[in-house]
Amino acid sequence: MDDCIFCKIADKKISANVVYEDGEVLAFRDINPQAPVHILLIPKKHIPSFMDIVEADKGLIAAIYKAAQKIAGDASVDKKGFRLVVNNGQDAGQAVAHLHFHLLGGRKFSWPPG
Ligand code: 5GP
Ligand code: ZN
Repeated sequence: MDDCIFCKIADKKISANVVYEDGEVLAFRDINPQAPVHILLIPKKHIPSFMDIVEADKGLIAAIYKAAQKIAGDASVDKKGFRLVVNNGQDAGQAVAHLHFHLLGGRKFSWPPG
């Protein structure tokens, strides 16, 4: 996708503070962090939203979850806790149309979310 900012980050056309990378997953620090730890995990391939995940992506989604476990450990939030969040669509405030998981930690979060 030519005009997708996260595809450009995955292609290294735009720089990002990368904390994890493998063949199909990239994770980098959010440019506007909402917590001391705020990392975005994306598939390198363009998937517009959570609702566009298909059966054939199950290995990819498992890889993202495994990466999230490793990143939570590396960021030392695995014991105290963290949130893994997907915003899907308008009501959730999805701003970037390339699937991403927010890993947020390093402070207490309230429930219900705002
Ligand atoms: P959404 O609201 O779509 O779930 O979240 C998009 C996130 O991407 C936001 O938290 C925003 O700060 C982050 N973001 C947008 N553009 C960039 C960018 O160019 N670089 C980085 N590192 N994060 C970005
Ligand atoms: Zn994209």
